[in-house]
Amino acid sequence: TAAADDLQLKIFHTNDTHARVEAGKYAGMGFAKISSLVKEARNESDNVFVIDAGDAFHGQIIANLVEGKSIAQIYNAIGYDVMTPGNHDFNYGVKRLKELNEMTDFPVIAANITNKDDTQDYPFPPGEIKTIDGVKIAFIGLATPETAYKTHPKNVQGITFQDPIQSAQKMVDRLQKQENPDIIIAVSHLGLSEGSKYTSADVAKKVDAIDLIVDGHSHHELKEGRVINDTPIVMAGEHTKNLGVVNLTIENKKLVNSEANLITKKEAADVKPDPEITKLVQEIKQEQDKITSEVIGKTAVELNGARANIRTGETNLGNLVADAMLSAADADVALTNSGGIRDSIAQGEITKGDIIRVLPLGNYVVVKKMKGKTLMEAVEHGLTQYPAHEGLFPQVGNMSIIFNRSKPAGDRGMFLHVNGEFVKPNKYYRVATNDFMAAGGDGYDMLKDTETVQEADGLAEIVIDYIKDKGTIAPTQNGRILSVAKDN
Ligand code: ATP
Ligand code: ZN
Repeated sequence: TAAADDLQLKIFHTNDTHARVEAGKYAGMGFAKISSLVKEARNESDNVFVIDAGDAFHGQIIANLVEGKSIAQIYNAIGYDVMTPGNHDFNYGVKRLKELNEMTDFPVIAANITNKDDTQDYPFPPGEIKTIDGVKIAFIGLATPETAYKTHPKNVQGITFQDPIQSAQKMVDRLQKQENPDIIIAVSHLGLSEGSKYTSADVAKKVDAIDLIVDGHSHHELKEGRVINDTPIVMAGEHTKNLGVVNLTIENKKLVNSEANLITKKEAADVKPDPEITKLVQEIKQEQDKITSEVIGKTAVELNGARANIRTGETNLGNLVADAMLSAADADVALTNSGGIRDSIAQGEITKGDIIRVLPLGNYVVVKKMKGKTLMEAVEHGLTQYPAHEGLFPQVGNMSIIFNRSKPAGDRGMFLHVNGEFVKPNKYYRVATNDFMAAGGDGYDMLKDTETVQEADGLAEIVIDYIKDKGTIAPTQNGRILSVAKDN
């Protein structure tokens, strides 16, 4: 039997939803069902929180076309309480994320993001405090420092990502001194990847006073959470495939029990979608359809942007993008990262929306002037991660690459041709690339210091115009990038 000052707290959580708004279209249950589950719980109890652990405002046309505003509207309608920003939430720039934070009825929190190097000056609220039945619950936001190199440098200009473990400890100390919270919950976009420098596991190990970590970024589906150093870490996969639930039992203002679970899409099969959300999504889409449904041309073949293909070799879509770049830039060759090309297009009519879906990162075309040896260095760099599906793998126009995949990284490029001739190390070439790479994104540091000779239009616009101009396209994979295996 519950004592008078016992409290049952229910926390719903999502992460890495990446604008997979609707059920049916994607593998997830969609936000209308999530809303129904939240509303049902809120009808029964006031002690319900809804949390998002980042990567929400970006990823599909419905979000990208309006720079995240639609997601803010949907999250408001569901009644989210708090969120921490994911790396992709910076894709429209920090200024836009601040605007989104104004649009949301809940705060976007990050205790380890500061203005410049000033560790006291926060662009986003570091945390949030809620009091329920006299129990004080503090939330601390933790963003991934990987953002600083995973997004375009301009998107994080003026802000610094601090060590999340140190920042968390500092916030805990400050809270305990000033606010004396009963429960401390970290909302983090750090994840549990082995390859990450800072993970939520590190936070659990090193910051003792944290009671629960609601996590994202590594897309783990933790069915019952993972307990590290007595701290439960919960994560709900991705794309609304699950709604995470944590039931907390608090006695005498102390957390005495927590039970984590995931409501899977399958388990939510019979949940009725919330008509309020369905209606809101329809309204948003009708407004957007006016723009995105415009047919710009036709393709006689499927345009291949599948991650596993485009990040390991030449594809016809990569060639199309590179050729379109050359049509709009005054350049000898085009070199663009496959990670910027994010989806395929089926055979048939092509709409404006298709192009925005494939090229959602707001890139524009930049022409850099460099010596042949720098171009070779850049190509060599693009091959370093092969055969891993990493975004740096190049797609090219008006040049061809033959590389030896048996050689160690850094020594793979064999032949590089421009206009059918070997690249000359000391000759200058004008290389059309995108603004991300031009700024050293994906590790293309060698491009950063070369002279910028042209800044052209947006990449998506350029590709749209290129297709409009041709009417029907049938790009092929025509041997621009060839991989061979040789022992020496
Ligand atoms: P997630 O957080 O969704 O798990 P991720 O961002 O860690 O994914 P990827 O989906 O591989 O991982 O995306 C990263 C890649 O996207 C980068 O390596 C780069 O190739 C590409 N990319 C990111 N931002 C830009 C940009 N502004 N312009 C061009 N390409 C970009
Ligand atoms: Zn992420």
